[in-house]
Parts: sequence; structure tokens; C-alpha cells
Amino acid sequence: MQGEWHKITIFAQNLYLNPMKNLIRMASVPLVAAAATACSSVQTEQPWIVDRFDDIKVIRYEVPGFEQLPLEEKELVYYLAEAAKCGRDILYDQNCAINLPVRRTLECIYTAYAGDRTTAEWKSLEKYLKKVWFANGIHHHYSNDKFVPEFTEEYLLSVIESIDEAAFGELNAWRGEVCRAIFDASLYPTKLNQKAGEDLLLTSASNYYSGVTQAEAEGFYARMAAADKGNPTPVSYGLNSQLTKDEQGNLVERTWYLEGMYGAAIKEIVYWLEKAEAVAKEPQKTTISHLIAYYKTGDLKRFDAYNIAWVADTESNVDFVNGFIEDYGDALGRKASWESIVNFKDKEACHRTEVISANAQWFEDHSPINPAYRKPEVKGVSAKVITVAMLGGDCYPATPIGINLPNADWIRRDHGSKSVTIDNITYAYDKATQGNGFNEEFVLRAEDRERMKLYGKLADDLHTDLHECLGHGSGRLKEGVSPTALGSYSSTLEETRADLFGLYYIGDAKMVELGLVPSFELAKAAYADYIMNGMMTQLSRIEPGKDVEESHMRNRKLIAEWCYEQGRDEKVIEWVVENGKRYLVVNNFERLRELFGQMLCEIQRIKSEGDYEAGQALVEQYAVKVDPELHQEVLERYRALNIEPYGGFVNPEYELVKEGDKVVDVKITYPANYTEQMLNYAANYSFLPNKN
Ligand code: ZN
Repeated sequence: MQGEWHKITIFAQNLYLNPMKNLIRMASVPLVAAAATACSSVQTEQPWIVDRFDDIKVIRYEVPGFEQLPLEEKELVYYLAEAAKCGRDILYDQNCAINLPVRRTLECIYTAYAGDRTTAEWKSLEKYLKKVWFANGIHHHYSNDKFVPEFTEEYLLSVIESIDEAAFGELNAWRGEVCRAIFDASLYPTKLNQKAGEDLLLTSASNYYSGVTQAEAEGFYARMAAADKGNPTPVSYGLNSQLTKDEQGNLVERTWYLEGMYGAAIKEIVYWLEKAEAVAKEPQKTTISHLIAYYKTGDLKRFDAYNIAWVADTESNVDFVNGFIEDYGDALGRKASWESIVNFKDKEACHRTEVISANAQWFEDHSPINPAYRKPEVKGVSAKVITVAMLGGDCYPATPIGINLPNADWIRRDHGSKSVTIDNITYAYDKATQGNGFNEEFVLRAEDRERMKLYGKLADDLHTDLHECLGHGSGRLKEGVSPTALGSYSSTLEETRADLFGLYYIGDAKMVELGLVPSFELAKAAYADYIMNGMMTQLSRIEPGKDVEESHMRNRKLIAEWCYEQGRDEKVIEWVVENGKRYLVVNNFERLRELFGQMLCEIQRIKSEGDYEAGQALVEQYAVKVDPELHQEVLERYRALNIEPYGGFVNPEYELVKEGDKVVDVKITYPANYTEQMLNYAANYSFLPNKN
């Protein structure tokens, strides 16, 4: 089942992670219009950015409408939000086995150090800790590279020695390993290695496999799949376990459940889920009970039961994700990182996605692909705009801006999927990034800038909607083709498919007819933006000398470069140099749209037929390698703008208001201090031992 868990994270990067998109949104969105679409109650002028360090900015988000929820829904949000915070340590350990001791050692230092906190070295140490918090470990959340400390080992040791040993407790025994993890560049160099030809497991620092080679892991799961061959509803083998060896050298899974690995954190999650179950109404009560049963047993069939119940429930106002969901962190695309999001419907903003969903069959029937690979009946496309109330695990502090779940192909096929976009997050991001000069720097033509200004926000929203509500759910496999046939290329190709679906249709007259798009001018804004990002500006997030690794970035590069190449003779897309700076210009938007259609046809064919070689060839030719000169130029121009390329969020805090034993209200507050929130979580939501 490799590769089937890739569908959740979204176009997210386009917004909060992707500087160029952000830019477009921010520089462009007329505030009033943005506010009017969804977040009309979020108009207070408070500082949105609560911290900045390195390449990161941390933003606060508001939760409009929370106060107006009925009491039982507020209480439900509260319990689910507590559950969302309890799995945080799991992600740290999944990312790398040394992460918890490193974080705790640094937190201990940060809290106890009585020396000079104004020196450059202390500031560097503080920055390092902030980066560890942001990345949930010692590797960059996006590039996966290990952080390089800007303080010396001698300094760190001198700080440690100035603190009473008792303050460190058990951590004293970890000091040597912690120092090596921080300072030895050859140890844990990358969290996730995807270089074809290397042993992807032995060279990745993530903790999904321990002492196991790639060939052993692949063999282990191939045997498991073979034993289950022909089962139309297979579980997602390996999703919730670490693969390791026992004392005799046999491969064994250590399952993540109440009595197993990560049990101490799962116990807390279950405690709060049981509280949530008690106040939830049907059918949600049953959904939560399935999830609890899954956490208690580790049985993936129960996880499927939970997903089926979850996807069927489109009515509950409050909703949530909680579990081992995303497989992006596993080189084999099998093991899922822990995450949680708690949310409720943003009813006013749902109109857009309702219209798209209501016309799902029309879009499928007109998709520019081989008719044999269209879905005769598009099922269960549900879409809504939500307001996030709490982010946890792999959704915090960096978060997706859309969700499309569940991931298992057969559940999607038989039961459909739920798709949401998160408006209060994107709104906060827009607010935090207004006016940073990006478009002026990278967009050559005034007409493009003008269009981006007018339509950028709506174009982004609609592309996300199309990608999530329709793109991932469209198309079908040829009979007998394995959903895992595309192997390690499946994430990139799947995102490519969904993005192309969105790009193609955002320029379709149908969108105008449906009243969602004013004219083709909006597509022009989206296309110019997409091409520029895919071929150029997204390189600002990559370190010099590195390849493009992340699957959403790869997919954007693949699409833009392929279209550039295909339309080269006609100059559909053109490089223009002015004043020594390179710019990308789209000369023929209509033709570009046709190219998107042709490419969608080919990518769908590759997926439907499981054509691994063709998929590999496309990705390796267009999506991976970076032109070093262009890269250098982008980095310099981007650096001159002084914009942090990554953003993440601090959560609100919730408090039960009681009269005696009775809950009478839930109070929400918005903390404005990133460090305080992290220390608070460390003190109150850290349940795992140092070694798991
Ligand atoms: Zn996607």
C-alpha cells in the first residue's frame, strides 16, 4: 500500500510555506474583500506576527465564531483540543529518536540558566531551540536537513555546567548523545533521504524504521501485501508502527497504541477523546468511539472503521483529525506521522466549495483525460471551509491550509472523502505578510501584478478547492493496476495530477458560468503565478547545492518546466532578462491551459496504468535538479527582501469555566508569545520517556 497516504497536505505549502503564493495573497488581497469572503469577524488590528527567527515567522490566528458556538460544542472543542496537544512528543520521536532528549535538555537550560542572556552565543542557542520547537526536532521541517548550530559545543557545555546538575535529572545521562546529535554533522544529516539508489531508510534519521534496511522493509511489507492479495479492502499495512528487529534478528513491528510504543502519550489522548465522546452527539459519538478502540488496540481495521464513519459524517459542526495520518516523512510512504486538527464549520464561506462539489460529475465528465480513466460516478465529494480551533503534532506550528482525507484508496473509492480549506489560517497568514515587495521584485509586467492584486486571493482559494474537492478524487485506475505502482514517485505525481486538475479548470468557461470566476483574467493571474513559482521563486526555499525534494515543490516544478518545454517553440512561456534580472513571462495563457490539459491526460494515464518508468522519467527530468545560477540569483533577490520564507502559528488557549462541577462556558484567549506556549506545552503535554 505504499504511497497511498499522500493525499492530505494540500496546497498548503502554497500558502503558508510558499513565499510567492503568500506574496500574491498578501500584496494583493484587498483587505475588505478578503474579510468579506469568510472571516468577517476577524478584523481586529492586533499584531499578527508574534515571533521571527532565522527563516521563520510565527503568527497568531483567531477563531472567529467560537464564542457563538453552543456550550456543548465549545466543550467538545475543548476536549478534542486537549487530545490534539497530547501527541506532540510522538512526532518528535518519530522525526528522530534523539529529538526528545535534545529538546528537553535545551528547555531545561532555557529555563534554568542564570548567566548572561544578552550574548551572541546565548541568542544563537535560543534561536536553535526555537527552530527545534518549530520543526518538532533537529531537522528543518521543510528541507529535512539537520540544523547547523551557531554556538560552540564548549559554550553549550559551559552553560550546562553553570546549572545545578539536579535540574537535568535523567537528562544528565544523555548529555554526550545530545551534544553529538547537535554538533556532529555526520550524524543524522537528513531526516528524510529520497536520493534514488541509496538505502533510503539507513540514510534517513527519522525513527520509523530502526536498524532495518530498505530491502528488508520492502520485503517485509511485500510479503504482508501478498498474503492479503485480492482483498478489496486492505488495511494500510505498517501505518502505525515502527519496523525493527527483535533479539533474534527477526523483523518485528512495534505498534503505536495504548499498550505499545508511544502508549504513555496515547493514554492521554484516549483520556480526552473519552471526554469528547461523552459530550458528542451521534453520529460523531460513534466515530470517536471507533478512534478510541483503534488507539486501544492498534488494530488498523478499527482505524478504517473510524475513517468510514468519519467521512460519512458531513453534518457535525465540530470536526477533527487525530491520529497517524500523513506519510510524507517516510521515504517508503508507509508510516504516518501523528497529527491533529480541531475545527468547526465556517458556514458563510462554504458556498464556493458547495457549488464546485455539486458539479463534481460535470468536471469529471469533461476532464481532458482518456475517457476510460474517468470515474463514471464521482462519489462523496464533500467540501467545506472550516475555522481551525487547535493545531497539534505534524500540523503545528507549520500547518496545512487544506485537508483531504482519508487516504486509503478503497475507502475513498467506496465511501468518498472529506475535503476542507482552512480560512482563518490563510487569513492570518495574509495579514502577516502584507506588503513585503515580492511581486515588485519577481513579476516583470505591471499587467500581471495588477491581475494578481485583483484576483490572487480568489485564484488561490479556487485552485485549492479544485485540487482538494475534485482533483485528488478524480480519475480511476485501470483494472488490476496496483495503487502503489508508482512507488516513491507516487506523492509527487499525485500532487501533480490534483494541481493540473485545478489549473485546467480554473480557466474553464464553466467556472464563469457557475459564477465562481469573473473571467479568464483570474486564470491568467493564477497561471503567471504558478509558472513563476514552479520554475523560479520556490527555489528560495532550497539551500544552495540541494535538489528539490519535497513532493509539492517537485510537482510544481514538474508542471511548470514541462509546459515551458512543450511550448518552447511557440514561446508560450518565456524567460526575459531585464537589468540583469531574470523573469518568467507567460505569453499565451490559452495555449498554456491546453498544455495543462495535455499534461493532466498523461499524468492520469501514468497513474491509471501504473507506468512507473514514465512517471520516474518525468519527475527525474523536470522536477528534481536545480540550475545553480538561477538558484543563486533567486536566493539573493529573495534575501534582499528580508522575508521569512516559512510561517507557522501559535495556538489559542482554552479554559473551562465551571460553576461547582458543572461546565458553564469555555473561554478562549490568544497568547502572543511563542516561547511561552512552547514551554507551557513542554511542562503540561510531554508524556513520553526520553527513549521510546
Ligand atoms: Zn494534494
